Amino acid sequence: MSEPQFKIGDFVWFACYVADDLQRPCPICFGKKAVTLILGNGEAWIIACDYCGKGEISPRGFVTDRGIRPAVRGYTIDRVSVSATEVEYQSDCQILSADRTFATREDAMVKATEVAASEQASRDKIIEYGVRHNAKGKPWSAGYHMREAKAARDRAELHERLAHECRAAKKEPACSSA
Ligand SMILES: [Zn+2]
Repeated sequence: MSEPQFKIGDFVWFACYVADDLQRPCPICFGKKAVTLILGNGEAWIIACDYCGKGEISPRGFVTDRGIRPAVRGYTIDRVSVSATEVEYQSDCQILSADRTFATREDAMVKATEVAASEQASRDKIIEYGVRHNAKGKPWSAGYHMREAKAARDRAELHERLAHECRAAKKEPACSSA
């Protein structure tokens, strides 16, 4: 059984992190708001970046992520719970796991730096996945737009022809009721 290092009434420092909104250049277009897609025949297409344009009217060239900073907070322990495997402290509603609770601010900051770095790394992994996934989606989306453009041209041609036929029909003398 783990031994609690602190008791009710002790003032402790808890290692945590805070997340701030940080703006950084778009990892896909690097601020250019467009990317170049090279087709198999070497033809280069410039298409709007939809990574920084997602949910916006047009690409912004930057993205907003949550940046993680280490932080420490002081608490007065008002409950200590000990289980077979771990010790947990509590201060009001805040649960303080023993491995992140320290007597000094400095020790808590060392741990907070570790905690923040690992949180940042796991968020970066998610962002990196998003970036790769987005890049992989590009040829598909370019192909999709090409198909849509062709379908729209075909539709336009058809309607134009039908309109001509209508006009041509109108030029004919009206049928008599013979
Ligand atoms: Zn972009």
